[in-house]
Order: sequence, then structure tokens, then C-alpha cells
Amino acid sequence: MNSPVTTRDDFDYAAIMAAVPDPVIIVDPEINLKYLNSAAVGLLGWDPTEWLGRSLLALIHPDDVAVVISSANSVRGKASGTPIELRMHAADGTWKWVEVVGGDATGAPGVDGYVVVARDVTQRRMWEVASGDTVRFQQAVQHAKSIMLLLDRGGCILSVNGAFTRLLGHDPSVAVGSALASFSTPVGATELADALGRSIETGRATTCEVLMRHVDPVHEPRPIRFEIVNLLDDPVVACMVVTAHDVSDLHTARMTLEHLARHDVLTGLVNRSVLLERLESVVEDHRPTAVIFIDLDRFKPVNDLLGHEAGDELLRLVGERLRLLVRPDDLVARVGGDEFVVLADGVNDRQTAQQVCDRIDAALAEPYLLADGPMRITASVGVALNVDDATVTGLMADADLAMYEAKAGRRGEPVRSIPSRQRSANERRRLADDLAVGLRRGEVVAYLQPVTDITTGRTVGLEALARWHHPNLGVLRPAAFLDLAEDAGLDSLLGDVVLRSMCETASALPEHFSLGINLSVPQLADAQLCERISTILGRYGIASTRLVVEITEHATLTRRAGGGKVSPERTLMELHEMGARLSLDDFGTGFSSLTHIRMFPLHAIKIDQSFVAGVCTHQQDRAVIGAVVGMSKALDLLVVAEGVETLDQLEALRELGCDLVQGHLISLPLAPAQVAEWLRRHGNAWPTAVTNTRQVALNGGPAQAPA
Ligand code: C2E
Ligand code: MG
Ligand code: MG
Repeated sequence: MNSPVTTRDDFDYAAIMAAVPDPVIIVDPEINLKYLNSAAVGLLGWDPTEWLGRSLLALIHPDDVAVVISSANSVRGKASGTPIELRMHAADGTWKWVEVVGGDATGAPGVDGYVVVARDVTQRRMWEVASGDTVRFQQAVQHAKSIMLLLDRGGCILSVNGAFTRLLGHDPSVAVGSALASFSTPVGATELADALGRSIETGRATTCEVLMRHVDPVHEPRPIRFEIVNLLDDPVVACMVVTAHDVSDLHTARMTLEHLARHDVLTGLVNRSVLLERLESVVEDHRPTAVIFIDLDRFKPVNDLLGHEAGDELLRLVGERLRLLVRPDDLVARVGGDEFVVLADGVNDRQTAQQVCDRIDAALAEPYLLADGPMRITASVGVALNVDDATVTGLMADADLAMYEAKAGRRGEPVRSIPSRQRSANERRRLADDLAVGLRRGEVVAYLQPVTDITTGRTVGLEALARWHHPNLGVLRPAAFLDLAEDAGLDSLLGDVVLRSMCETASALPEHFSLGINLSVPQLADAQLCERISTILGRYGIASTRLVVEITEHATLTRRAGGGKVSPERTLMELHEMGARLSLDDFGTGFSSLTHIRMFPLHAIKIDQSFVAGVCTHQQDRAVIGAVVGMSKALDLLVVAEGVETLDQLEALRELGCDLVQGHLISLPLAPAQVAEWLRRHGNAWPTAVTNTRQVALNGGPAQAPA
């Protein structure tokens, strides 16, 4: 068989080798370099004279040396081996990827070595590596947790990764080509457009948080935070690069915190701060609204007797009932232990407000089913209306006052009281006109409440408390008209009317009772006050030494004078000189400073009923009363406790050393016609409610004909 290779003597093989475009290298059996053609020199750049005789392995990448040796071994005796790829060191310091294939030419005369043909594959290798990374990178992006998007200038999706579909369910084939904003809520679309616009305008990265819709409407839209990088000017990327991630957890955490700051944990109702915020806007916008205060009656015993768990359960149920009762625009807040406030939207007249209150009253009075069994509780409800000149604090105070009035009413005093401050300006004007007429017609009279010696049970005095028999509104208590009288300049007249009424009743009674009147600050500033009092007392033949003038701490602090007025201090001194006794009323609610007490020739101190109410249940109230008694003894003052409602309170007050008592336990304020009869029956000893019918007293006041 002829060899396919023919040899020609006339050929210049060196020239041929020099012309072969592929690098050709010949090494000896020890792999030392014997020959490099010009392509090989061109590939590696080495000066061949420097390298001839040296080991080729010195030019091979260390990682590829083993492959080269094994390939050399395997090619032994063969005309051609298997091609291998290896890295060779070039003179410029770089590595070249070459594909080599060798053949054993050790037997060929003049060659005596291996002939290796090489090909530069560096470009191909780089491209392969690069394209290999792109694929890897694409895979990584596809599976990344964050959403990645490429958008065009108009916000249209050019490409999108898998997170978009995993999170929101939209198919990539639908997403690509659609506007990103088309997958958000309408509000979100605007925000996205804004953020994209800003990024295009400034060239900077922008962020926004947007609610994105899920493909399945059953799922709530999710809050997604977008970071938009503007690479529109980059020649390779030329688009907006957007990364985004789900911030639902963050949102939930943020919302939980916000909820906690604005809600009561027990009932889930909003708290006082939310109430005040809403009330502020209600007042500012003059929105017709009723502010309804609700306070549970005798909640403390429930808590004490049944335990806190039952108490909590009850409060939760009360909150729930209130929530179910009101309309969607109304607000229900829990503002204290057993205190709730409802803002009834759109209510601007008293009748409707009353209806709402009645509904609340009735709903709360229904039995509650607690874990321990059914129970009942009632609530006292007070209401104030957002009238023209209302303020937030004024409304809160008025509703609170009305609630306390309701509580008092619930305890038995059958009089009505709508704090005058919460009436509209028109209503007040009309009522002031009514009062001017009523005072002259004898509609305002002094009810008298007995003051009793705590050791003997004998009545020692009577205190005049003004009541207005209004032709349409029924019997009104002072809170409903005192400040009206003051505003209308009727306070002096009112004082005279009450004093006359008291004297008229007293003139028919034995003379040993002291007679108390309450004087307000403006009354004390009246320069003619003492003179008029003397005149009236004189007319009824009553000695001025029987008079007890009750003033509040507030009155003793006010130093108003001028414009025909005198300072309250001066009037008090004058009254003292007339022989009247001075009593400090509502003690403990004002500044209660000792210096202040010393400044006046006081005869008695009346402990405010709020302390008396807590004497059996609150250690602090008991301590205050004890301290007041101690101080009064040191200053030689009598101590009167007002608002005594239960036998236990009476006992406690006696133990603490109070001298005199007043309150519903002994008697409600008595209408003029009732006084003589009551004194005849009860004036010399404790009334029956105190001596034997303990049960009646405990059930909320003595069994008497309504005052
Ligand atoms: P005050 O002088 O401290 O009178 C005690 C108030 O407590 C009275 O309210 C009385 O009805 C009420 N009260 C008496 N016993 C009890 C009780 O056991 N429980 C409860 N919850 N309340 C009881 P009222 O009559 O509404 O008077 C309120 C205030 O108005 C009086 O407080 C007094 O400062 C003032 N006031 C009353 N009449 C006149 C008056 O003719 N002129 C002036 N300037 N002020 C008056
Ligand atoms: Mg008083
Ligand atoms: Mg008082």
C-alpha cells in the first residue's frame, strides 16, 4: 500500500513549515523544544533561540502539565494522538488557550521527536466562559427572591424574573410588554409613574412602595418596595433596572405597632388619643356631634368580688355592645378603666342625643353571660353637644359632668341637670331669659339638706341648695343654671332669692339649726352683699350668727376687685364680723393649702364627696380624710363630710373623727314643704334608714318621698 504522504526532494520543507498558518512545535522524547515554526513564534511571542533545548513543560500552565505528560505518553508510537486543550504562557505575560494534537515522529530521520500542531482557541474559550456565566447569571436572576425587572422609558416591562410570577402570579408572557403599573392598584400606578418619572428626570435611583395586585383577586394586593435605577443612557443596558421585594411583613409589623399605639388592647376599641384627635376635628369643622360619656356603675365590686378575669370579660362585652350599637361613622373609645366615650356623628339636638343615650343605657343593662354565669351591670351616661363655641376640653368636661349628674340621679335624687355650658348659644340665651323671669316668679327655691351630728344623729343645721322649677324642663340643679345666672348678671338676684327662700322655710322652724348658704365668686365680689344679707335676715327675724357661708377654695383664691367690686377676701372678713360662720366647701378638690386656710377665720371644712365616696374602697381617700381631720383638729375647725350614701361610709367617717355629716343616706335635699315634717320625724335622732333598714340604704338611698 502506498503511503498517502509522498516526499519530494525538491521541496524546501523549512519554507513550508514557515508558511503553515497553524503553530507547529517539535519536541524531543524528553519534551524539550526542538523547533517552533513562525506561527508558533507569533502565537507565543518568545524568541525561539532562547527557548530551544528547554522543556516545553515550562511554558505549560501548571494545572495542565499532567495532561500534557499523559498525552505525550499515549501518543508514543502513533502518528496522531487525541487533541487536548491547554494553556501556554505567552511572552506578554498572558495565557493562551491552545488546542494541540501531536504525532510520534521519533522514527523520522531528521525529526526524532514529536510533532505537535497547535491552534489558538483563546477567543473561543473566552466566549464560552462568558456565555456560560450569562446563562448561570440568568438562572440566578430567574430564581432570586427579589423581583427583577427591566423597563423601557415608558415603564413597559422588557424582561422579568420568576419572583414576579411567584409573588403575584402573573405569567411572564403576559407581563412582558405590559406596563408595570397595570399590575398595581390605581393609587399605586400613580406612585410608580411618579417614581419612574423622577428617576428619568434626575438620572438617580428612586424608590417607592406600591400595592401590587395578585393575578387571583382572592389574594389581597401586596405592598412591594421598588428600587428603580436609571440605566437608559448605558449603551449596553439602555433601560430602567428595577428590583423589588415584598414588604408585607414589615407592613404588618408597622401596622401592629400603630394599632397598639392607638387602641385599647383589652377591648380593641380606640383609645383616648384617637378620641381627642377626632374630637378636635369635630370641633374645628363644627360638625354636629354628641359626646357621650359612659361609666359603669359599681364596676369595682365586680372586679373585686369576681376577679380581674371576669372584670376584663365584662369590659370586653361592654365594648362589643357599644360597637354594635353605634353607626359606622360613630366612634367608640375606651378612655379609662370602666369609662367609654361615644362620638355620635350628626346628632345636633338634645332629643336625639337623649334617644341615643337611652339606647346605650338599655343595651348595657341587658344581662351579660360571663364564664362564671350571667351578670348585670348598669351604666351612667352623660352627653354634651358640639355647639358653636365648644372646645375639646369643654365638651369632655361637660359630658363628664353630665355623666356624674346621671350617676347622682341614679342614686335617687329625682332632679334633672343638663350642664348649661353644653347648651347652644341660643338655648343659653333663652334659658337666661327664662331665669330672669323665673327668679321673679318664685320658680327658684332653696331645698334644704340636713347637716347631722355624727355622734348623736341629731340635725344641727340645714344647707340651702338652689333648685329651679322650670315650667318645661322640670326641676333643675345648680349646674344647669348657676353660670347662666353669672353670665346674665343675675347672680346677686339668685343669691337673694335663695336666701329669702331659705329664711322663709327656716322662720317656721326651731331656732337652733344653723343655716348654710353657698356663695360663688361673683357674689363675693358684690360690694352690697353683706348689707343685703343683713337686710333679708333681719326681715325674717333670723340672727346673723346662725348663718353659715359656704365658699369653695377657688373663691378664696380669687382676688378680683375694681369696677364697683370688692375682693372676696374683704367680703368674707365683713361676713365674719357680722357673726356669720365660714365653711370651706368641696375641700380637697382645689389647692388645699394650709396657708390659705389660715388666712381666713374659718369655722368648718367640708370634705368633698369624692373622698367620701372612696372612704371604704380607696386607701388613699381614707388617708386624705384622716389627714384633713388631723389638721382641722389642730386648727380647731369642725369637719363636715358631704355626700354620705352608705352606712359603711358613715361608720368609716365616724372612726376617722369627722364631726358632721350630710348625704342621701340621711336625707336628700328637701323641698321647702317637706322640711318641717322631716325634722319633726328625724331631727332628733338618726333616721330609720340609718338605724334599722341597712338593706334599704345599701340598695341606693333612703326610702323617702322624692324631693
Ligand atoms: P355643694 O355645696 O358641695 O353641695 C353638695 C352637692 O351634693 C349638692 O348638689 C347636693 O345635692 C349633692 N349631694 C348631697 N348629698 C349627696 C349624696 O349623698 N350623694 C351625692 N351624690 N350628692 C349629694 P347640688 O344641689 O347639685 O349643688 C351643686 C353645687 O352647686 C353645690 O355644691 C354648691 O356649690 C352649688 N350651689 C347650690 N346652691 C347654690 C346657691 O344657691 N348659690 C350658689 N352660689 N351655689 C349653689
Ligand atoms: Mg355647699
Ligand atoms: Mg360640696
